[in-house]
Amino acid sequence: MDQQILIGATNNAHKVKEISAMLPSFFVLQSLRDVGYLDEIIEDGKTLEENALIKARTLHHFLNKNVFSEDTGLEVTALGGAPGVHTARYAGEQKNDSDNIQLLLKNLEGREDRSARFRTIIALIYNHKEYLFEGTVEGQIADSIMGDGGFGYDPVFIPNGYAQTFAQLDTGIKNSISHRANAVSKLVEFLIGNA
Ligand code: IMP
Repeated sequence: MDQQILIGATNNAHKVKEISAMLPSFFVLQSLRDVGYLDEIIEDGKTLEENALIKARTLHHFLNKNVFSEDTGLEVTALGGAPGVHTARYAGEQKNDSDNIQLLLKNLEGREDRSARFRTIIALIYNHKEYLFEGTVEGQIADSIMGDGGFGYDPVFIPNGYAQTFAQLDTGIKNSISHRANAVSKLVEFLIGNA
């Protein structure tokens, strides 16, 4: 297949690296910075779907090309699905991973049910039409931080079927079972089927 450029509405280096590693080799991923979009996109939607669409629409308006964006949330059962759409700024506007994790562990102190899931929504604008793809991974929130790989909440998320957190597991394992991997594989299937 000929090389295809895929433009993603993100500058998060971790996400770019993960998504690039999941894509078949004929896809080349470009970030916001790569395409010259330098403004911050305000994610003020009430759901992951709304935020993904806000980012994709903003970039599509800027480039008038096929683009996608993704938005991820951590949904913890004992917290009624929180932090959900507020995952990035759970402990405040500073959007700090360590602060977020500390608050999460504090809010789960003494809770028996530590089940949680990551949910990723990818919004694709393809030939001026909008599509949404969802990927999830179920797991448990660890009692304490374990591992230094990955990013975000990875040091406290143990995917079901494993005894280690995403931050301890090999990146190849995370990239094959994660929320993002599931959503990206649906995106790729769509793109290949519509190329
Ligand atoms: P956003 O999708 O960039 O808005 O990310 C929302 C929040 O989820 C941020 O705090 C991220 O660090 C966190 N996050 C997103 N993806 C992952 C992941 O794969 N592992 C752990 N945390 C993640």
